[in-house]
Amino acid sequence: MMQEKSGYVNTARLNNSGRYAYELHLHTGEFGWCAKVPAATIVATYEALGYAGIVVTNHYFDHGFEHMPETTWAGKIDNYLRGYEAARAAVSREDFDVLLGLEIRFSENLNDYLVYGVNKEQLIAYPELYKYSPEDFRLLADELGWVFIQAHPYRKGCEVIAADSLHGVEVYNMNPRHDSRNDLALNFAKENNLLATAGSDYHQIGDEARAAVSFTERIRSSSELAAILRADYEKKQSKKVLN
Ligand SMILES: [Zn+2]
Ligand SMILES: [Zn+2]
Repeated sequence: MMQEKSGYVNTARLNNSGRYAYELHLHTGEFGWCAKVPAATIVATYEALGYAGIVVTNHYFDHGFEHMPETTWAGKIDNYLRGYEAARAAVSREDFDVLLGLEIRFSENLNDYLVYGVNKEQLIAYPELYKYSPEDFRLLADELGWVFIQAHPYRKGCEVIAADSLHGVEVYNMNPRHDSRNDLALNFAKENNLLATAGSDYHQIGDEARAAVSFTERIRSSSELAAILRADYEKKQSKKVLN
């Protein structure tokens, strides 16, 4: 396993830390709905701050796709991926990586979930993922090697789901316009031996670099990120069995 342990930082002074810091929760103005900043601006910002990369996690939900002009699912996925593609095209540092993720909302309620490990081909092959239940989505995630994390599970309007339907929870959501009650999320992660992730939940200028997850190695793809997180998850779960 590449990752020895993950850690969290609250400052952007990462350049000489010897670790690779990633933003795991971020929205671009391209297909961002509530986000307005162009991906190119975001990439330039995070490159300058010393991050090793960002995961673009734009909102994936029923209305977003229904309102698209495209008539084919593959066309809709092209539309959805505009922010991710724009971010990739904007990279100027050779050691900076843009990875693909989702922030998915199922039709049943207002919970949000972060998904890591996805690629374009899978998003085309498995349409309308928002029609899944979280329980079925977890099964699909295990089949395809994805990681399924509940975002800000204790924010108002959200409800934490059963721990065995998740690989983890976002325990530091640093969006300054919401009280995500992160302390409760951290307790939930600890009690259930789940992954605990952090993210800025970037939507606008000023949201940058409020959180990061750092790794001991560079991560070049979403599937690489998922493999590291899944290994960490298995390790945490095996401790639970031993206790
Ligand atoms: Zn949003
Ligand atoms: Zn978000």
